Amino acid sequence: MRGVQREPPSASDPPRIVLELRPLPNYPKRCSRCGEVVAEIHDVSERRVRDLPILEAETWLVFPRARLECPRCGPTVEAVPWLDRYQRLTTRLAAAIARLAQVLPIKHVAAWFAVGWETVKQIDHRALAQRLGPVDLTAVRVIAIDEFAIQRGHRYATVVVEVPTKRVLWVGRGRGREDLRAFFTLLGPEGCRRLEAVVMDMSTAYLEEVRAQCPHVTLVYDLFHVVAKYGREVIDRVRVDETNRIARAAGPNDPATRARRRVIKGTRWLLLKNRTNVTRHTDRVRLRELLAANRALFIVYVLKDDLKRLWRFRYPGAARRFWRAWYRRAMASRLPALQQFARNLAVRIDGVISHCRYPLHTGLLEGINNKIKVLKRMAYGFRDDAYFFLKIRAAFPGIP
Ligand SMILES: [Zn+2]
Repeated sequence: MRGVQREPPSASDPPRIVLELRPLPNYPKRCSRCGEVVAEIHDVSERRVRDLPILEAETWLVFPRARLECPRCGPTVEAVPWLDRYQRLTTRLAAAIARLAQVLPIKHVAAWFAVGWETVKQIDHRALAQRLGPVDLTAVRVIAIDEFAIQRGHRYATVVVEVPTKRVLWVGRGRGREDLRAFFTLLGPEGCRRLEAVVMDMSTAYLEEVRAQCPHVTLVYDLFHVVAKYGREVIDRVRVDETNRIARAAGPNDPATRARRRVIKGTRWLLLKNRTNVTRHTDRVRLRELLAANRALFIVYVLKDDLKRLWRFRYPGAARRFWRAWYRRAMASRLPALQQFARNLAVRIDGVISHCRYPLHTGLLEGINNKIKVLKRMAYGFRDDAYFFLKIRAAFPGIP
């Protein structure tokens, strides 16, 4: 085969190399379906495909490709082993695109190789499907189930993770009971029997399905979700109640009222944050003033910190004693939102205590949640769920 520069370079165009390939004389042509040598050639046409860049120049291969009349398969084309399935580029270029798409957004890969966005997506999708294959569920014993938003308020999905290895096992559309059933079908009766524990959020619809499919499993509620629920149901509620109470007590236009409301206003993030993460001096002062000025907020803030400590116990007896003390303080608070939260949690407390037997790294579900948001920002999300879900699986291949 010989290479020929066919197009004269011009100063304005990006550099481009065109290589013309010619078959060796008497080189046998093979059917692209069955691989057998075929003698009967229907016709030959010129094909142009992209290849890896040479010295940063966009590189094209031009070659004749025959249409054949295969005695076994009928009309077919000549096999070209280095041509990618989409036929517009070489396999080695497709492989390079797939490698880069593992770490960069599609847009950047497309710009780097000067190929279309859709082409990069298709190649990456296919490479992921091939690499990840069907999931191996034979040794799965402890899983975590969580939901995430594909489009907030519109479309949701469910992710199942193997806890010890942080491997994403399954991602499916929806967040209802029926949506999760597909995972258990995949797991099979044998796998359901093998399952020991399921970690999840208290307030999801998954619970009933888990109970129905695997009645023997231990339920575990994770810190991330319980504390988030506490933030929504207790801290947010008490903040609003306190702001209203101050307004009612002295009238909204009283200057003292305005000053006290200002202390509470915009403090949600400060109250929900981990105390150790409040590092700026002004924020620390503000938090101190806020808690000193308001008894109710002080109580819910301290009880939030103590609630988190429940997940540090390794002995169920000690955890239970700590819980009973926490519950008494919550009930003594005279704050209805806090009392209601405590009563609800009391019904499910076994699921918190079981954390002693099945400890979960506190950052696991939060980490997966955050990573999914990053993947979504890289703009895989909205167009193609199947592809998006593969990207999530690829981001959590598991640690052996
Ligand atoms: Zn054939």
